[in-house]
Amino acid sequence: MTHAEREAVRAALVKLHDDLVDAGAFAVKAELDSPVPSSRDEDEAPLVEMGQAIASARNRERGERLGQIAEALRRLVEEPDEFGLCEACGEAIPPRRLALMPFATLCVPCQSAAEGDPHGPGRRKVTDYR
Ligand SMILES: [Zn+2]
Repeated sequence: MTHAEREAVRAALVKLHDDLVDAGAFAVKAELDSPVPSSRDEDEAPLVEMGQAIASARNRERGERLGQIAEALRRLVEEPDEFGLCEACGEAIPPRRLALMPFATLCVPCQSAAEGDPHGPGRRKVTDYR
């Protein structure tokens, strides 16, 4: 990976990080602006609970993603020669994949294998064509 390529990845990671932090700030502000209604309207309670569950799932995903981004930035600085190589097979992760997911640590085949799908994304059974 060239210096210019690493700089491009670093810029993409920083932008992703900032976008996630901004999204988090908006979410917190929205919660402050609309306090949970009191129990006088019983019908609304399940909806509020559902909204809270969705919000907390989003917070968890955002936290995981922020962790991945921080880890990628650390690797970019501390292990620049390793960056962009698949952690499982050592092959270079395709630039198009890194452009979409600069925090990726596995190539597509290894990612698919790690997720328990040996045939990769978008696979179809032969019977699908009949
Ligand atoms: Zn791999």
